[in-house]
Amino acid sequence: MAEAQLQFDRPLWPLTGSKCPVPTCRLETHLTKFARFNEHWNSVHVPFKYLLSCKVCKFYTYKATEARRHGKKRGLNHVCTVEKVINNRYINPGVGKYKYPTPEEKEQLKQSMKKRDKERRDSIDISFFLFHKDRESTLDYSDEEENHHNN
Ligand SMILES: [Zn+2]
Ligand SMILES: [Zn+2]
Repeated sequence: MAEAQLQFDRPLWPLTGSKCPVPTCRLETHLTKFARFNEHWNSVHVPFKYLLSCKVCKFYTYKATEARRHGKKRGLNHVCTVEKVINNRYINPGVGKYKYPTPEEKEQLKQSMKKRDKERRDSIDISFFLFHKDRESTLDYSDEEENHHNN
């Protein structure tokens, strides 16, 4: 049940990728990979970070995988301690973080994309009609005005 609620709060990562959904974010790039988006989000849109610093040397990182690699490379005594620190680059998102879709959700996204495509085609047809109607009325108006001037 809790999971269903989460899905409601967090939009699904679009199949075609996305820009960062945070309106105040300076990142303008269209991201195609979810992993890249996730990385960006975790570095800018979370208020705290977990600083991992080695007990023995000056090594530090924010990534658990790098901390593990450091221990493997330098020896088992190079263990990192974890410290919760304030994220200086933090930008309050104000929107939910994209969630990576499950295979079923991906299928749903594909279906709704198809539907949107069809709807877009339909709306083009309507705007074409409106455009012509508009032009006609503008022409009528200008003709009328011209006549007025001539009189
Ligand atoms: Zn962002
Ligand atoms: Zn170390």
